[in-house]
Amino acid sequence: MLEIHSLPVLQDNYIHLLHDSVSKQTAVIDPALAEPVVQFLEKRQWQLTMILNTHHHYDHVGGNSELKRQTGCHVVASLVDQTRIPNVNQAVTDGDCVFLGDHCIHVMLTPGHTLGHCVYYVPTASALFCGDTVFAMGCGRLLEGSAEQLWASLQTIMALPKTTLLYCAHEYTQANARFALQREPGNQVLQDRALQVAELRQQGLPTIPTLLKDELATNPFFRVDSPEIRANLQLTQADQLTVFTALRLCKDNF
Ligand code: ZN
Ligand code: FE
Repeated sequence: MLEIHSLPVLQDNYIHLLHDSVSKQTAVIDPALAEPVVQFLEKRQWQLTMILNTHHHYDHVGGNSELKRQTGCHVVASLVDQTRIPNVNQAVTDGDCVFLGDHCIHVMLTPGHTLGHCVYYVPTASALFCGDTVFAMGCGRLLEGSAEQLWASLQTIMALPKTTLLYCAHEYTQANARFALQREPGNQVLQDRALQVAELRQQGLPTIPTLLKDELATNPFFRVDSPEIRANLQLTQADQLTVFTALRLCKDNF
């Protein structure tokens, strides 16, 4: 049985932990900090087996060195980023599989936000640890890659089973909902979701994970075929990449 726990840290980051109760192995995804992870592991009496990094930004790797020093865990990161992520033991690339006990964690390379960004898909938990590639009702900013790369990355994620839970690395949902509503105000499902999100945040509760099914219905970056989104951009006849690129630019200036 796999168990997932998410720790809110820093301003709006989440550190996710994945634990296999059979093998007793534990993975931590994107430890921005070591201390909250150490405390949580102690409380649960879990041993840290490995760190999985999605990309090299400090708010995703800041805890690597200290966690490695304290636990001797194994550090997994994208081959593209192995020189700019601290303490990498295993450099992985698209299609690779990392094992946590008997569970295969599939590596998918998703460039766009950064060139080496990868996400970790765990079919046996219906979970995708998607770092800064996808957020609830949003997607990562193009800091290194092209819109074309990020669009291709999002499409591979969109092709996963609709019941996949997306464990994003940031709580950006409420701001993303405002942008989504500006782009597609007539989307009833989106309106309802924005209200639910506001309520959760008011209670200090997380909006992560999010179901892929819900993203397909409300995330503007997954909805480049929406007639309303296209009409608002005056791109009714454009191809998907053109719509995606225009949306990403709008969000940058939102
Ligand atoms: Zn980032
Ligand atoms: Fe980040």
